[in-house]
Amino acid sequence: MPASYLELVASLRQGFPQPVSDRVHDAYFVFSFLRALDQLDEMKSVSPLLGKAVTLDYDAARRSTVDQNPVPLEQVTQMLVEHLSGMFIWGHPRAQINVIPPPTIASVIGGLLPSIYNPNLVSEESSRQVAVAEVEVASMTADLIGYDPLKSAGLFTFGGTGTLLYGVKLGLEKACPGTAQHGARERAVILCSERAHYACLSVANWLGIGQENVIQVPCTPDNEIRTCLLETMARDVLKEGGKIAAIVATMGTTDHFGLDDLKSVHEVRERLVDEFHLDYRPHIHGDAVIGWAWSVFNDYDFNANPLGFRHRTVRSLAGTRRRIQQLPLADSVGIDFHKTGFTPYVSSLFLVRDSTDLELITRKQSDTPYLFHDGHYHPGRYTLETTRGGSGPMSALANLRLFGKDGFRALLGHVVSMAEVLREHLEGHDATTVVNRGNFGPVTLFRVYPDGVDTFGVSEREQKDTSMRDQVRIHNDYNRRIYQLVQADALHGDGVVISLTDCYRETDYGEPIVALKSYLLSPFAEEQYIDAVLESLWKARAKIAAESSK
Ligand SMILES: *Cc1c(COP(=O)(O)O)cnc(C)c1O
Repeated sequence: MPASYLELVASLRQGFPQPVSDRVHDAYFVFSFLRALDQLDEMKSVSPLLGKAVTLDYDAARRSTVDQNPVPLEQVTQMLVEHLSGMFIWGHPRAQINVIPPPTIASVIGGLLPSIYNPNLVSEESSRQVAVAEVEVASMTADLIGYDPLKSAGLFTFGGTGTLLYGVKLGLEKACPGTAQHGARERAVILCSERAHYACLSVANWLGIGQENVIQVPCTPDNEIRTCLLETMARDVLKEGGKIAAIVATMGTTDHFGLDDLKSVHEVRERLVDEFHLDYRPHIHGDAVIGWAWSVFNDYDFNANPLGFRHRTVRSLAGTRRRIQQLPLADSVGIDFHKTGFTPYVSSLFLVRDSTDLELITRKQSDTPYLFHDGHYHPGRYTLETTRGGSGPMSALANLRLFGKDGFRALLGHVVSMAEVLREHLEGHDATTVVNRGNFGPVTLFRVYPDGVDTFGVSEREQKDTSMRDQVRIHNDYNRRIYQLVQADALHGDGVVISLTDCYRETDYGEPIVALKSYLLSPFAEEQYIDAVLESLWKARAKIAAESSK
């Protein structure tokens, strides 16, 4: 006989946090979580993985069905924990993989509290002071990057891609008023650099702009947009009667940490408005999802250097500030706390310099009959999403408070100085070249070569000389092989996990160039782990040499 539904409800009630304080049950709640943490802790080792690298079994996953009967919490937790087996520990000093930060404890708690009480940021009626937290973070961050917090506005959304979507959407409505109502009726384009994130394509696709209308402007060797070409290409669009939905300035490219010259981009925009007597101002969106955090250095005294960074680090940080301090020139900015702000996923903030821009996307009251009856703050009137959780702003708030400017400066300064150490070594060795030499971030792109290659001029020859095509391909394969060997080493707990990019850029004759990538974001990074990367590279080179001499 199955239990009656009332018996089931009675037992399932134990699976919810109690609505009225019940100390014994609270202890059960906390302890259940603690047990999960304990189990995870047992999966830690010297290797940068939780547990073991498990072969992923999608066939079994596809055969899963829902059980007839409830399963006790303890068993469910156990199963959930097992799903983390084989996960990278991003904060491990032996992990230099991608722009994925380890979240702080404060930000985990910031993310957890809303997941217990489910505030809904659609409106203040359903989120109360968590709505205030969103405004608080938006204002603090606006102030940090140099917007006027009293004029600007912000909202959290579904990732960096979401922030770009909002930026371009505003721009589209400025360039082609009425698109929201009537649909697209004329050609509009997005201009961005060839190193911009593919999110530009996604956004063009989803907004009905069309991917063909994303114009990717060539970059300089330092991975920043060539602004003179931007101007020419924008002019061509306008001459043909097209509209500019947005110019996207990438402030920290994903693989290279390239920073566009936003001031020049802005000047180009102003000139175009005058020259073509435009009745709209093409919207500039700053895709700063990676670079925003460096705005903590906007008011750092590099001469006095009170935090004591090394000379080379000061130079890097100041080099980044030079560009990041131009951010207020953008009409809107995308910020990922879950990239360089050390929060859990997803915590992405869209900031607009002039809050009245949001009127361009605000719904009519009559379209939202069941919401927004009381109070002042109803972001649901202009957000794409209806339900928005509180975890993003709460975890961002946690870290802004936890770190303060000096905390952020120290962490970013530390990872950049570790990247500098890596670069010094790579540049000092004749088998390796750093290929994003002019970019001053935590990410280092480099290529490793077999004996006998003159690495002094190789990058430039590979880039420009068509007769190098075969060499580029051979060296691409060589770097892929190095990557595999380094990876295998790392999973045994000896080396460091780095990553590989299939195309950090193309040669002038259209061949993709592979690069190895070290992305340092762990606060636990130390010089000894930089040495471990190098040792692992030399081991891999020796192994390949031995294989090919057989
Ligand atoms: C990561 C990234 C994005 C996309 O952000 P998500 O948070 O992953 O959606 C957009 N632009 C740049 C430059 C990025 O690095």
